[in-house]
Amino acid sequence: MKKRICSFCGRADSEVSLLITGLNGFICDECAEQANRIVRENLRRREEEKDPSGGLDLKSLPKPREIKEYLDQYVIGQDDAKRYLAVSVYNHYKRLAQQRSDDGVEIEKSNIIMVGSTGTGKTLMARTISKLLKVPFTIVDATVFTEAGYVGEDVESILSRLLQVADYDVDAAQRGIVFIDEIDKIARKSDNPSITRDVSGEGVQQGLLKLLEGSMVNVPPKGGRKHPDQDYIHVDTRNILFICGGAFDGIERKIAQRLNTHVVGYDNVSNVKKLDKGNLMKYIVPQDLKSFGLIPEIIGRLPVLTYLNPLDKEALRNILTEPKNSIIKQQIKLFEMDGIKVTFPQETLDYMVDKAVEYKLGARGLRSIVETIMMEPQYELPSKKQKKFEVTLEFAKQQIEKKMD
Ligand code: ADP
Repeated sequence: MKKRICSFCGRADSEVSLLITGLNGFICDECAEQANRIVRENLRRREEEKDPSGGLDLKSLPKPREIKEYLDQYVIGQDDAKRYLAVSVYNHYKRLAQQRSDDGVEIEKSNIIMVGSTGTGKTLMARTISKLLKVPFTIVDATVFTEAGYVGEDVESILSRLLQVADYDVDAAQRGIVFIDEIDKIARKSDNPSITRDVSGEGVQQGLLKLLEGSMVNVPPKGGRKHPDQDYIHVDTRNILFICGGAFDGIERKIAQRLNTHVVGYDNVSNVKKLDKGNLMKYIVPQDLKSFGLIPEIIGRLPVLTYLNPLDKEALRNILTEPKNSIIKQQIKLFEMDGIKVTFPQETLDYMVDKAVEYKLGARGLRSIVETIMMEPQYELPSKKQKKFEVTLEFAKQQIEKKMD
């Protein structure tokens, strides 16, 4: 029989640990490994030669209108916030794509801040948009941050998360988007700069400012706290888009105050009549954020300010059934998997909405109401022969009242 030798290095079967057989030849373990190295090296080089936008091609990216239409499938109402978000994300792409051209016009980034009561869809909007994004995205909660050196997470941990999402590809992370939830929780407690240390307030805002401004930040590789011996990863935040959200409880009072003084100051009574008293949030301006306790530097770095409307009954009713994965659609699907057709008459849905309004939990309350009503059928029906189930108003009431007792 012909001697088996590696077709690459010529060594014989006996001289190597492993010889892999191919169609017309052989390759030894060492040559296979070397080939692997060459392939990887080449791929990496090709990756580096690609443009800094990470291959984002503006033509193939979703336009603001398409982004909003996508959001519409999952988020009810909140048109203004959706538009702002869609434009911000699209501009973010544009900025990345533009880095290739050298005409001297540098598009600055516009971080955005969304203000709206709890349970009106801020986080939902961020999560939904993340499914559509072509860049790394992460959601962080501002409540976990404390000033460097105190118990809690340093603001830099935001970047550790982004790095994780980007599989530690620093370039990709530097093009990413970060959603910072509950930004209002790091507001200064009082309007005058504090004399004592305000661990969870101004100090954190200062830390955050560094990220928002765009700077080189040293990030501990695996998150967690900084350690002197650790090798840091250097992340440039210049191109990271920050989207902040917060409930800013009580900010309406500040808005009202400002509107009143404004009106008195200019003696323009006709303006007062036009005010939508039920929804002062829509008159929000950066100055109100300052009154609430955000430092002016932070506000300056969040130039796009938008708001979310409180959810009225009609919106709540729509949230139950309209979104692509609405709570009711999910229930129907769950029963369908057991071959059971479950139906919800109008009056039952209206009752659910009334309860949610009563609980004052916004849309957040809807899920727990539906879960409470559906607990028993979810437990009983799969073991029964019954193939149909109507969730009558009477049944819904019974289940809720049972829970209340
Ligand atoms: P927050 O504004 O406090 O971030 P979330 O986005 O977390 O509120 O909303 C809580 C839940 O309420 C969501 O998971 C979603 O099911 C529902 N919800 C809130 N607002 C809307 C909305 N506008 N459209 C559809 N569902 C909503």
